[in-house]
Amino acid sequence: MPIFDQLPQDVLDGILLSLPDFTTLSAVLRTSKSHLYNTFQAHPKSTALSIAYNLVGPALPQAVRVVFNADPKLCDEDTILADRVLDRDACELLQQNAAIVQRLEDLFSFRNKDRSSAASKLTSEESLRFHRAAYRFWLYCKRVQAELEENDTGYEQILDSWPTDGLLEIDRVASFLQDVLSWTFVLGTEWSDGWDSSPPAVLFMGGPDTALSYWESAELPETLWVWHLTFNFDEQLRTTLARRNIKADAQVTERAKAIIDTAYGSQDDCYRCHEPKGLDLWGRPNWQLLRGIISVRRLIQTLEGNLSRNSHEMSQLADHIQARDDDLRLTFDWAKFIEELCDMDGDAEGPWDKDQWYCLDCLLALVRLRLREWWTATKVKEGMQFKPDCWYGYNCRTQVHRAQHATKLNHLCTPTRGDPA
Ligand SMILES: [Zn+2]
Ligand SMILES: [Zn+2]
Repeated sequence: MPIFDQLPQDVLDGILLSLPDFTTLSAVLRTSKSHLYNTFQAHPKSTALSIAYNLVGPALPQAVRVVFNADPKLCDEDTILADRVLDRDACELLQQNAAIVQRLEDLFSFRNKDRSSAASKLTSEESLRFHRAAYRFWLYCKRVQAELEENDTGYEQILDSWPTDGLLEIDRVASFLQDVLSWTFVLGTEWSDGWDSSPPAVLFMGGPDTALSYWESAELPETLWVWHLTFNFDEQLRTTLARRNIKADAQVTERAKAIIDTAYGSQDDCYRCHEPKGLDLWGRPNWQLLRGIISVRRLIQTLEGNLSRNSHEMSQLADHIQARDDDLRLTFDWAKFIEELCDMDGDAEGPWDKDQWYCLDCLLALVRLRLREWWTATKVKEGMQFKPDCWYGYNCRTQVHRAQHATKLNHLCTPTRGDPA
């Protein structure tokens, strides 16, 4: 890149220091062997630090402590940037972690700040609080794991090192991670399982990275170090806050406003029932998130008559909703599903306005009304086989206890005879 050869030294310095991330740095160094490379070699530490700041922002000290898994009792947030050198591996990890925290921020904002945007709408201050807390909680989880492996209980003092508002921010992020895990449980729930969709309380102690990867892969871990935990973060935090005279009820109210100052649309009403549901309203922009809110089990339970207890039919429906492609990604499109339900026009409700926002109860009412017909139409579209109709249709009782009957006849139809056998 001969153009760089003609630039004055201070401009070259400026270019390097303003690069947005380490991938760009590698690319620039690869394409410019002479001048820029020499410029970088003259100040590798300060260049790395400057790019790290561009990448992570003001939560850099907290992010760097996570990268080094630094013991908070020995390594202060105020001095870590001077104490540690960001080598190549550290820079790479910093960049990976920054991407994870950013994706979590997007999701956090989507559910807690602005339900109409999948990209974060947090202000710079809210974003800093979120990032700082995410990295602090991440470090806490890593330290608990490290110290438990060494039979050390030093993690008990970690929370003491943070200010009270910082602890409440961490508490908010931790409860958000619990939400993320609950959504993952909802989308992984088998329709035939009897248990409720709530993850074990210790699971979020796996840290922000594990919570996000479970949500994105829609899969829950079979083994994780946290299963062996005999305490949880909530208990420790409560004790630490109690020592600072913050009572449990104050903790709950303070936590709720620890990160977000104002949320958009928090007073909005449901278009159909006019209940003020605010951020718990669902519309075209956030239908995709319903996969973590409405389990297959809950969908199936909305069906009429005895259909929900017809194992043959319900397995087919559950398989359709929980199908995965070759890369194990879920293929069912929730936004398309709700859109198709809204468009159906064979009942008193008529088509729904897809540009409006509805509460979960109203959406479930829509599902209850149209799921059976939607599933019938989908099976036709997919070329799935239909057996002759059972006279008793969805009300048939035999479909529940005789597998052979359930497979031999179609029960998605309306009954043509009463008094089901
Ligand atoms: Zn409603
Ligand atoms: Zn039947």
